Amino acid sequence: MTDSAAAQALYTETYENYRDYVNPPLARVMKLSGSPVEVSADGVSIVDHNGKRYLDFAGGYGVFTLGYGHPRVVAAVREQLDVMALSGRTMFSPLLGRLAKRLAELTPGDLQISFFANSGTEAVEGALKLARAATGRAKFVGTHGAFHGKTFGALSVSGREAFRAPFGPLLADVAHVPFGDLGALAGVIDDAAAVIVEPIQGEGGVNVPPAGYLRGVRALCDRSGAVFIADEVQTGLGRCGALFACDIEGVVPDVMTLAKGLSGGVMPIGAYIARPAVWNAAYAKAPLLHTSTFGGNPLACAAALAALDVLVDDDLAANARERGAELLEGARAIARRYPDAIADVRGVGLLAGVELRNEGYGGTIIPELLKRGVTAAWTLNQQRVIRLEPPLIVNAAQIATALRALDEAVGVALDRLGVLACPT
Ligand code: PLP
Repeated sequence: MTDSAAAQALYTETYENYRDYVNPPLARVMKLSGSPVEVSADGVSIVDHNGKRYLDFAGGYGVFTLGYGHPRVVAAVREQLDVMALSGRTMFSPLLGRLAKRLAELTPGDLQISFFANSGTEAVEGALKLARAATGRAKFVGTHGAFHGKTFGALSVSGREAFRAPFGPLLADVAHVPFGDLGALAGVIDDAAAVIVEPIQGEGGVNVPPAGYLRGVRALCDRSGAVFIADEVQTGLGRCGALFACDIEGVVPDVMTLAKGLSGGVMPIGAYIARPAVWNAAYAKAPLLHTSTFGGNPLACAAALAALDVLVDDDLAANARERGAELLEGARAIARRYPDAIADVRGVGLLAGVELRNEGYGGTIIPELLKRGVTAAWTLNQQRVIRLEPPLIVNAAQIATALRALDEAVGVALDRLGVLACPT
């Protein structure tokens, strides 16, 4: 079989398996939008079944902070694989202890006690249960447009009705308020076990709240006794140009959730880290109330420890700030050229959102980007927004390449859709 026949056979096999055994409607949508088959990846790039390289500006929705297969993380995992892959759970695990200590060193203030899970939504479930057990209260407050995951608790506090409606009844006692609105929060916070907010809403469409919002949430939680859960699953670990987005306002939440970039994109891992007073109020006398068989396994902890070292040693938060500024500035220039297509460009660090005037435009722009060797993705709770979320190791030339592709893709989309570009 020739190389190109083998590539076509791999595509056909994979598409048909998705269509018949994975998710038939999703398979068809991915096919229509020209989605290839991923075969390998390194650094900032994914390689498809035809050997074509793509700059990954979807970035695994924030997972690939260190790019794909960072050598220091891969080496740590390889070494651990030969020693002990999963924990027997009946004995102390040195790597789990070391990772918890390292997170306590790096996270703000007196955040200290960690629970490890395998995904973001599990980290959120753990944080919600912690808040109920610590306060003896039931109610949660979330924000419109929020995304915290798709298990029942996380979904209950998330803010997109389309994802929630088919699964009701969800948790009963949940109030949702507009993101960024402290007055609305003050109106519902009484008797709440917890307020959960993303410092910057990722899946809600890259929404940046007014300055001082997190400090305001902190003050309202202090006054009412609600646990402040900062969901940094997407914003944390350098993504927003600081180690944690809470650091930008100098705010210490009671509980912080992490996942996505925690292992630098090599192993699945999620975590929450809590202030001792909150954790002790919940579990001081009941250490096994919330557990996970695979959470904090040695392979994931080895990956996370190495990834945190790379994040700090290479000061990737600084690169996120500098490259993020270039990305936002470049995308804003494109928005000025195409005001009929792009309504807004916003973001912090390397979490950028391009808001289109019409939800339909993305269906052309994203495939056109793909043709030009750049991946991008919609945000889950706001399909008018295309996210640009490359690995934090991205360099200036790669940002420029992606911006050129975006410029062309918007131009092609507008031509096709019959909307005129600004003549300047
Ligand atoms: N919290 C936030 C802020 C997220 O962005 C996500 C995923 O996008 C989650 C939680 C859920 O993470 P996971 O998909 O790993 O369950």
